[in-house]
Amino acid sequence: MMQSIPGNVFPRKLDGPLPQAVDAEGVWIIDNQGRRYLDASGGAVVVNLGHARKELAEAVSSQILHGYYAHPTMFTTPVVEEFASALTAHAPLGIERFYFMTSGSEAVETSIKLARQIQLARKEPGRFRLIARWKSYHGLSLGALSAMGRTSFRTPYAPMLPQVEHVPPPYCLRCSFGLKYPECDLRCARFLEETILNLGPETVSAFLGETISGATLASCPPPPDYWRVIREICDKYGVLLIHDEVMVGMGRTGRWFASDHYGVAPDLVTMGKGISGGCAPLSAVGVQKEHFDLLRKTTGFVHGGTFSHHPVSCAAGLAALRILERENLIERAEKIGVVLGEKLKQRFSDHPRVAEVRGIGMLWGVELVQDKETCLPYPREEKVTERIWKKLFKKGIILYKSMGMAGKDGDGLVISPPFIIEEEDLDFVVQSLGRAVDKVVG
Ligand code: PMP
Repeated sequence: MMQSIPGNVFPRKLDGPLPQAVDAEGVWIIDNQGRRYLDASGGAVVVNLGHARKELAEAVSSQILHGYYAHPTMFTTPVVEEFASALTAHAPLGIERFYFMTSGSEAVETSIKLARQIQLARKEPGRFRLIARWKSYHGLSLGALSAMGRTSFRTPYAPMLPQVEHVPPPYCLRCSFGLKYPECDLRCARFLEETILNLGPETVSAFLGETISGATLASCPPPPDYWRVIREICDKYGVLLIHDEVMVGMGRTGRWFASDHYGVAPDLVTMGKGISGGCAPLSAVGVQKEHFDLLRKTTGFVHGGTFSHHPVSCAAGLAALRILERENLIERAEKIGVVLGEKLKQRFSDHPRVAEVRGIGMLWGVELVQDKETCLPYPREEKVTERIWKKLFKKGIILYKSMGMAGKDGDGLVISPPFIIEEEDLDFVVQSLGRAVDKVVG
């Protein structure tokens, strides 16, 4: 086992070496000094099933021994086919065809291209525009970055990004229109219609949104009727609806897909992160069968990558899905998620620096502000999120950082443990977070 860090991996932290993760079990990561870290964010909201799952190791190694690569345009493989049909059983209504890739960014790119391809197949070549939302996260590649509404990530590259129109997100704490739900009559959703009309409906290909915002808005479920209104607007103007479920799909919110909470099926849905339990790079785009059938009869889909439909990653995905089914882990995520939410609310609802505790299932966020009444954020330079995060990391607790709710400012921490976590570990996380918040901003 290697004990020293040569430092050739680019880029790593500038302020000193990172600990080396050498082992893991359940909800714990163990470093080379023998320190244990409670992984209360499942890494980047990825490790849904817990660490070091034997079934995942067996599925991956068995697939390697049965063939780890065959050119994806020349062969399909049984495991890829089985995984796609297993996903069909749980995906939003009508989503029955899947394209597999390796990262969430790639899935978002694919969904944008696929929407455009569907519009071409419908003989609507003028529909090239994408509408996305401010304060959103969609990935690191240039297409996904164009769609992303987190300004600090976009701005440095802005002149080279394709134009994407952005509309306000359903973020009631800081409503862009200064309104309150439900009297607002979902102004943010209805603004989409206004935007489509201003751009010209004949130019709009798709609307892309995280079904429940995660990375930038620290878990922010929209009002119950938000997606129904958006779906109606999209249908009225022939605009395709893309749900980005890279973070929230595959059980994270206590349902297979977050769209299940809203009774709305998208035209396209992206998946990633937890889809393989974190043991292999894997992402997917699911598409309504009717769109797939149209493409099949007309234009096809001009797309393909070296590692598309990778059998080893799909073996991991299939094994992860079977664990969710067999162990009823999504029901567990729903139930223990309620407990986690209650504990967080109990500890933070009256806290003078906590603007809101919000979330669903196993995805909860705590948003921090200078002033609860005005929601005044801390300046980014104060690095409030990072300081709290660092204190917890030193204590051996891992959370996920969420920043940028208020332009470049805005601070939050996301608690998103593996679904198998026990209640006493949740107590430890919530109490430790409480102490860290008190120390840094209390
Ligand atoms: N979409 C969403 C909603 C995400 O949260 C993320 C990652 N945080 C991505 C896309 C990009 O995924 P990846 O980092 O795997 O490229």
